[in-house]
Amino acid sequence: MTTNERTDAIQNRLSIPRQAVPKQTPAERVRNFDETYLALDMNAAMVEAARCIDCPSAPCMDACPVHNDIPAALMLLDAGDVLNAAAKFRETSTLPEMCGRLCPQESLCEGACVVGFAIRPDGSKQPPVAIGRLESFVTDAQRREQGGFPIPERGVSSGRKVAIVGSGPAGLTVAEELSTRGHECAVFDMWPEPGGVLRYGIPNFKMRKDILEEKLEMLRGLGVTFVNEIRIGEDVTLAQLHDRDRYDVIFIGTGAGVGNRLRVPGEELRNVYAATDFLVRGNLTDDELPAGQRGRPFVGSDVVVIGGGDTSMDCVRTAIRLGVEHVTCVYRRTENEMLGRTEERVHAREEGVQFAYLTTPARFVGDDDGAVSEVELVRMELSEPDESGRRRPVQVPGSEYTVPATCVVIAIGYNADPDFAGSAPIEVNQWHLVKVDQRTGQTNVPYIFAGGDVVNGADLVVTAIADGKRAATWLHTYLSSLGPTAAAAAAR
Ligand SMILES: Cc1cc2nc3c(=O)[nH]c(=O)nc-3n(C[C@H](O)[C@H](O)[C@H](O)COP(=O)(O)OP(=O)(O)OC[C@H]3O[C@@H](n4cnc5c(N)ncnc54)[C@H](O)[C@@H]3O)c2cc1C
Ligand code: SF4
Repeated sequence: MTTNERTDAIQNRLSIPRQAVPKQTPAERVRNFDETYLALDMNAAMVEAARCIDCPSAPCMDACPVHNDIPAALMLLDAGDVLNAAAKFRETSTLPEMCGRLCPQESLCEGACVVGFAIRPDGSKQPPVAIGRLESFVTDAQRREQGGFPIPERGVSSGRKVAIVGSGPAGLTVAEELSTRGHECAVFDMWPEPGGVLRYGIPNFKMRKDILEEKLEMLRGLGVTFVNEIRIGEDVTLAQLHDRDRYDVIFIGTGAGVGNRLRVPGEELRNVYAATDFLVRGNLTDDELPAGQRGRPFVGSDVVVIGGGDTSMDCVRTAIRLGVEHVTCVYRRTENEMLGRTEERVHAREEGVQFAYLTTPARFVGDDDGAVSEVELVRMELSEPDESGRRRPVQVPGSEYTVPATCVVIAIGYNADPDFAGSAPIEVNQWHLVKVDQRTGQTNVPYIFAGGDVVNGADLVVTAIADGKRAATWLHTYLSSLGPTAAAAAAR
């Protein structure tokens, strides 16, 4: 292709407008827990893929934590080759259908997409290529066509045993990567079912759970075993896993699942929920929940959600779907300082959620039965920036007022579990996050590796996958240095 032909081809691609991704209308979706976004059709997906200009620098790949070869996948889709486009995403990601739905693409791949920056001849701009939606489109289509996840070939058995603590995206990635390399993987988790936050957190309207079930089926087919309702560090220690149960290596992917507390009076009242408790009760069936944590949350007529991140949006949108009349999100700064996705706030607003900015709770007030009945709120104003770079909210004296509340949800962020860190012979920092070698994921104990939120703090599905892949590479190197067990060597 000559330079002129190439320039024309790029201009043609830049002139294609972004294809709308269909959604349920707000009126429809508040009546169900189905995914908000509907599937693209094949024609729209191909047209959207044709917007990619296949730029040689591909900044989208650098911005993607698992470095998906996005241009190659989109060129395949543009040519109508859905199966190979999906295979291209699977070369670098263990959970592309989930990332396509859940990544904050505007600050990752799509935020770096040249198509979103290019000025057209008429001076106009267009949004970036809808990379995430195309990633889930092709991988969903592949699973549909092939009857489930493609099962990778299993390597020759090494006889070596891997214990994986935590079945979130980091742990599942390590299990997949190491069992395909011939190691025996067992995944331990304290919840009744595997999946980590993919099951016990992220609501169905953002990602349907049957994708997770199919993935677990595929992993079982690879020989991965799942042991649930066991708390490592309490029921069994890491040392016991290694010394007594003969696991050669351990991967810690325990996440950052401890919800922060507000520490205001009345937090112990009935119907004041921590975000995860509210979300799992609101979104899951009783048989997926521990015996002491079953039944829908009591919501009544007025739900107040405290916090302004993505988890709060998951909570307000769950409350709306549980049929509540008034749902309010209370946040102490303004919308400009909110850290979550704009898209999620737009969805929440469309669904009828109210926002009270520059406001914080002073206390929760109970009725005679010990259930919350009101929240006393205080107005805030912004002063100088704090250590996060955002302007610090300070209370406006005498601005207290009360609002009715039949249910309160506290969604002000998550941390790693201090009890787990205390029970393990591994180094952690002051936030109880496990310290690792950033290149390998190895801890100070040579046979223990870690990754995901327990290392990074509350983060993303895709960064947990990236950590799982990195750790698996080095765990395999470590296991290979031990060689196969005598039994495995004899069987070769
Ligand atoms: C409500 C919510 C919504 C989110 N939405 C998004 C989103 O839209 N997009 C996105 O990219 N990210 C989202 N995230 C963040 C994302 O889910 C996490 O970053 C990701 O799941 C981290 O993966 P992980 O494997 O490190 O840990 P997790 O997924 O947290 O899994 C850790 C697992 O370890 C288990 N565990 C912990 N301690 C022990 C123990 N001692 N013994 C046994 N098991 C243990 C836990 O039970 C859990 O199952 C969301 C998080 C939450 C809470
Ligand atoms: S994994 Fe996330 S960041 Fe990477 S291409 Fe997919 S949607 Fe974009």
